[in-house]
Amino acid sequence: MIIDSDFTTKTLQKLVQINSVNPQLDSSGAGELEIGRYIHKLLQEFEADSVMDEIKPGRVNVTGRIKGVGTGKSLMLNAHMDTVGVKGMVDPFSGKIENGKLYGRGAYDMKGSIAAILAVAKAMHDHKIQLNGDLVFSFVADEEHESIGAQELIKTIKTDAAIVTEPTNLAICTAHRGFGIFKITTEGKTAHGGNHHLGVDANSLMGYLLAEISEWSKTLSGHKLHPLCGEASIHVPLIKGGRSLFVFSHECEICAERRTIPGETQKEVTQELQKLVSIASGKDDRFNAIIEPILWRSPYEISPDSTIVKKLEDAYIKKNQIKPEYIGHTWWEDSAIFGEAGIETVIIGPKGGGIHEDVEWAELDSVSDLGEILLNTALLFCE
Ligand SMILES: [Zn+2]
Repeated sequence: MIIDSDFTTKTLQKLVQINSVNPQLDSSGAGELEIGRYIHKLLQEFEADSVMDEIKPGRVNVTGRIKGVGTGKSLMLNAHMDTVGVKGMVDPFSGKIENGKLYGRGAYDMKGSIAAILAVAKAMHDHKIQLNGDLVFSFVADEEHESIGAQELIKTIKTDAAIVTEPTNLAICTAHRGFGIFKITTEGKTAHGGNHHLGVDANSLMGYLLAEISEWSKTLSGHKLHPLCGEASIHVPLIKGGRSLFVFSHECEICAERRTIPGETQKEVTQELQKLVSIASGKDDRFNAIIEPILWRSPYEISPDSTIVKKLEDAYIKKNQIKPEYIGHTWWEDSAIFGEAGIETVIIGPKGGGIHEDVEWAELDSVSDLGEILLNTALLFCE
């Protein structure tokens, strides 16, 4: 095999040993500067024109490029460098290897993928492989929070296609859910707790809406279903209301988290929430609520007939002699940002487990297998 599996193992171990916890999720997180420098140095060794862009202090993107020798299509291989926090983990940065598995925070999400992409750059260099189109190696910041890395990247990079290497157990992922966060506030009127005829309790009024959301969450699943991503859903992760005991609550605020399936738009989802609000206001004429959109991340889907998906499937079959499994992800990924920027994007990543959990690992064989599949896809796509 042209992919150096000793290199992928050694590199993955080193990547896991570098803390790159997203500092927005945990203030003690190191961010992407150190891991970015490590990746940048390797890309330079492999003569893949590498640049490191600082987006904010300590937050960087690293982008390498091997120029094509002809006029073939360009392809981007992408991974995020940040990880979620390490609370609850024993030895999160050990990179310990046992029975073909490498353990530690980010091993699976998604430093295994970074190692696989770097192994592609190494193979291109060591074996003097030339492609007709450009091959871009992209490592971005902040996917686990606000994706400032991917959003910065698409301002300057445009390729014909991209492969986002989020973990998939080597299945091909062609769709994922999106999400919208909405702040909804009910208004009350403060008064002494003893003056019930003067006060309006914003918290109790919110109860009408919470009951509607709870009912809607049960029916939503049946209403909105995607063959790969499953059901749409809604829940209320945050609630806050009132100032003190013995005072009628002047205001109650919730954050509703609506997980969307491909095809759903922000406009539709907002209208759906407005409908729930109007049902709640029919229960009590003092009910008054305001909906504010806080964050919207679109769902994503690519046609299984698109060129990049077909070439990836061919590369998979070449390696495994069987057809790949097709899946959808229930969480959101940077692929939606690339897709919206007009870059046809598909997702494939290694095998492993414990994503965002206390014990996380990647299966080492699958990391080098991923490298081989990515390289074969580049050979087919960048003709
Ligand atoms: Zn990830």
